Amino acid sequence: RDDRLIVSFGEMLIDFVPTVSGVSLAEAPGFIKAPGGAPANVAIAVSRLGGRAAFMGKLGDDEFGRMLAAILRDNDVSDEGVTFDAGARTALAFVTLRSDGEREFMFYRNPSADMLLTPAELDLDLIRRAKVFHYGSISLITEPCRSAHLKALEVAKEAGVLLSYDPNLRLPLWPSAAEAKEQILSIWDQADIIKVSDVELEFLTGKDSVEDEVALLLWRPSLKLLLVTLGEKGCKYYTKDFRGAVDAFKVSQIDTTGAGDAFVGALLTKLVDDMSVLQDEKKLREVLRFANACGAITTTKKGAIPALPSLAEALALVEK
Ligand code: ADP
Repeated sequence: RDDRLIVSFGEMLIDFVPTVSGVSLAEAPGFIKAPGGAPANVAIAVSRLGGRAAFMGKLGDDEFGRMLAAILRDNDVSDEGVTFDAGARTALAFVTLRSDGEREFMFYRNPSADMLLTPAELDLDLIRRAKVFHYGSISLITEPCRSAHLKALEVAKEAGVLLSYDPNLRLPLWPSAAEAKEQILSIWDQADIIKVSDVELEFLTGKDSVEDEVALLLWRPSLKLLLVTLGEKGCKYYTKDFRGAVDAFKVSQIDTTGAGDAFVGALLTKLVDDMSVLQDEKKLREVLRFANACGAITTTKKGAIPALPSLAEALALVEK
């Protein structure tokens, strides 16, 4: 076992973001290529903060796939768990926040390489070597990637790897809201740590509130830690023995993309160095303050990966 290794499993893609803000996709005068995909963001967040990270997933053997693999390497994220599909293209997303405040999405996924990962292509050794295995839910949407995801969970569980789940709902990708909810919750009992946003909490519980009693609907005895992130209001935490909230840092928000991934990356990086954080509320609160700082910094810059903080930046905000 590599006692510091965090393996992050799932999709890595390119978001095409309009060069001007507040326009619809059709009105955009041009686009900037922003590498992303929540599990890849988490891997890079870990690495920037000084942790050891590997990304596991499939990329197209095309210019975009090669660009993404280079980004992993440039960020000291191991790509030994990455496979390339010669016949499929890397996933692309066109994303904009329109002037009416609505997010608009368009995806190239018919199918994209990430969806074609098979169980046989998994690097099982890499999974078994990890201290933490982190994943989302987009890899549950279609086969064969769904089977690969389930197999990876099984192998990780058997090997005693800590499982960390951030469903990272991207509703437009799912065939229906009902299916999203069902599939996301179908692997709920396997995780040791789950992080949801306030929006996901409401979606998954069907309630119009983020009160403790609603969050606790998502609690399971199998869980060691449940986290609810609340944007500029910080986060809430729930364990078997204690629960509470940690305030956010005040920053001028420009683009929230990747804030949740920075938060998770920060938490996992701290956790592998000291697992007793899960039983010690004082330590947990310190770690969540650090995670909040990493989330906050990420909102002050455009894009996800370019905005993820270094350890020095994170410590500067925490110690301010
Ligand atoms: P997600 O990206 O999953 O929706 P959030 O937007 O809640 O998650 O952000 C994750 C964390 O990042 C929050 O818990 C908070 O600590 C920090 N954060 C997000 N938005 C802001 C903001 N506007 N100001 C300060 N901190 C923020």
